[in-house]
Amino acid sequence: MDQIPGPAVPSARAVLRPIGLRDARVTGGPLARWQRVNRETSIPLGLERMERSGALPNLRRAAGERDGQFQGYRFQDSDLYKQLEAVAWEHARAPDPRYTAFIERAAAVLAAAQRPDGYLNSHYQVVKPEKIYAELEYSHEMYCAGHLLQAAVAASRAGAGDTLLPVARRLADHLVQVFLTGGNDGIDGHAEVETALIELHRLTGDPAYLDLAAKLVDNRGKGLIRDSGMGPLYAQDHLPVREADTPVGHAVRQLYLEAGVVDLYLETGDESLLECSVRRWEDMVATKTYVTGGNGSRHDGEAFGERYELPPDRAYSESCAAVASIHWNWRLLLATGHGRYADLLERVLFNAFAASTSADGRRFCYVNPLQRRNDLVEDAYLGRRREWFACACCPPNIMRLVASLGGYLATWSEAGLQLHQYAEGVVSGGGGRVRVDTDYPWDGLVRVTVEEAPAGEWELALRIPSWSETTYVDNHLAQPHEDGYFRIRRSGWRAGDTVELNLDLTQAPAPAPPRRRRQGQRRAAARPSRLLLRAGRPARPRRGGRPGHRP
Ligand SMILES: [Zn+2]
Repeated sequence: MDQIPGPAVPSARAVLRPIGLRDARVTGGPLARWQRVNRETSIPLGLERMERSGALPNLRRAAGERDGQFQGYRFQDSDLYKQLEAVAWEHARAPDPRYTAFIERAAAVLAAAQRPDGYLNSHYQVVKPEKIYAELEYSHEMYCAGHLLQAAVAASRAGAGDTLLPVARRLADHLVQVFLTGGNDGIDGHAEVETALIELHRLTGDPAYLDLAAKLVDNRGKGLIRDSGMGPLYAQDHLPVREADTPVGHAVRQLYLEAGVVDLYLETGDESLLECSVRRWEDMVATKTYVTGGNGSRHDGEAFGERYELPPDRAYSESCAAVASIHWNWRLLLATGHGRYADLLERVLFNAFAASTSADGRRFCYVNPLQRRNDLVEDAYLGRRREWFACACCPPNIMRLVASLGGYLATWSEAGLQLHQYAEGVVSGGGGRVRVDTDYPWDGLVRVTVEEAPAGEWELALRIPSWSETTYVDNHLAQPHEDGYFRIRRSGWRAGDTVELNLDLTQAPAPAPPRRRRQGQRRAAARPSRLLLRAGRPARPRRGGRPGHRP
């Protein structure tokens, strides 16, 4: 089968290279079930909602093809873009003419709605054209654009038609003309477009998209946009990114911003970007992350709280924050090769993210608290999973991640293949191919059988999660390298060779880490708590309802 690159394809500066979406075929276990349910139930439900929610009708209004009032929020377009991305990645997994037909149909509506100068945002075109780019602090115009860019990259890589990319490029070129060469120094109140512009640069090779992403990252924290009413921390506009020590404000914005910051490091080699992002990651893991890997302690502002402010019952832990955390951790893993990012990715995936969707794929949580109290007044709206939301940022975000999950399981390098997440299936990369048999995460035994390997020296690297106290490889006690991987490097691999990894799934308490005394405004913790990382063991997802509410 043809190689199909996944959502993030960094330059050769990356220590580890992502495998293609079809290079990991998951055939069993929870991830396979999620992907099946996503395809059979969630995505069809999402496609139907693109009409009912107003996402497509709003764009037809912008195109002058339909009357009536604008429906929904100002960022309603982004629901369609995330849905398009989900469909494109699903098409990459298993081609379906219904998917390409939907993408073509939506692209035609978008092309009709797009202004001749490339601008595209149904809310501002229909409701207040006089305010275009005049209220960036809350307009979400670049946020929406970012999601269109990501959808177009996905459609292009997936071979799902070639009509979306020209629309996205015209919009990206318009952003370049206004915000890079046109003298407008504004940034969007909701970070997202940065990582998207860089991926479009990776796809097209156009340096202007990278330059604009760099300018937007550099301009944040300089007070170049007004306060939206939520304070500058809400949009991470309180400090330049290289100076901020801890994640603050709206959690999803912070986490998307971090994905863009690491992407920018990967393309430019600017070490100060990687350094500041790692610094905030360490502080987040030590002081602002739930045992489930969830982020966001406050309903007010959908925000990170203070250090150690982690109420279990009032946890916000938005599903979108779990998706964004996975994006950030994946980029840090590619940039550094360190298994601690794959550890956190796993913890988020099997806990905060897993809780977001009902077993039948029909209902979704907006928020994911650790404890549900029936007497909380917020339960009136947030108390149960819902099929859709007025602010529906989460459901299509969940769908695009599940459709592209295969790309997050393994990487390759000149040395060979690295397995980061364990699931039953077949994985190719680094010149080799292995079959993985396991009932993980319910059982710690992972059997890797080589199906194909290069004739010369070849390395198989297995992540040893930091929570596994005693790990065996082929019945020998295995000590991972300090980066968290156990490497088997040798010549003469033959088809049928097996490696048996046995992870320690013994239950262990995960007490909160001790508070550390702060010194002035310096960061509280230089290293993530080992105890917190031990909590990586996934919780068996429960059946039944959970809460649900706004990006
Ligand atoms: Zn959301």
